[in-house]
Amino acid sequence: MFHGVPAKLICKKHLGGIWYEISKLLGALRKGKKITGHEVDHQIIRWSIYARMMDVYEESKERGYKYKLPSSEAEIAELTGYAQHSLSEDNMPAEIGAYNAMKLAMRCPQCAEKILAHYQDIAGRCKLLQEIELEAMVERGEL
Ligand SMILES: [Zn+2]
Repeated sequence: MFHGVPAKLICKKHLGGIWYEISKLLGALRKGKKITGHEVDHQIIRWSIYARMMDVYEESKERGYKYKLPSSEAEIAELTGYAQHSLSEDNMPAEIGAYNAMKLAMRCPQCAEKILAHYQDIAGRCKLLQEIELEAMVERGEL
């Protein structure tokens, strides 16, 4: 599911793949099955399904794709346990997202284009913040 990688950084093909995967996971939950075969613990997977599904769904609307939610937002929240715990990918450390983004960028040139632009932007902003901080230190006479 490329946990922690925002849907907006994912190409059409991989977004479709994620949508298929989460829809299957949700279907399994609906039948009361345990989600297996995933590297992450069952509970974490369950909780992250809701956020992942909504993130991908919102992005698909933005891009004009015709994805349809398999059931109501409230039912998905209930099935995944999100309603009870409000745990989501927001709780996932940023490093996991960055690591998964880099793995995806190495596999797919279409994703790489969006991912590299995004992280370059972050790096650019970090550099800018550093420069501002350095200037402030000079002004304060600390350098
Ligand atoms: Zn891709």
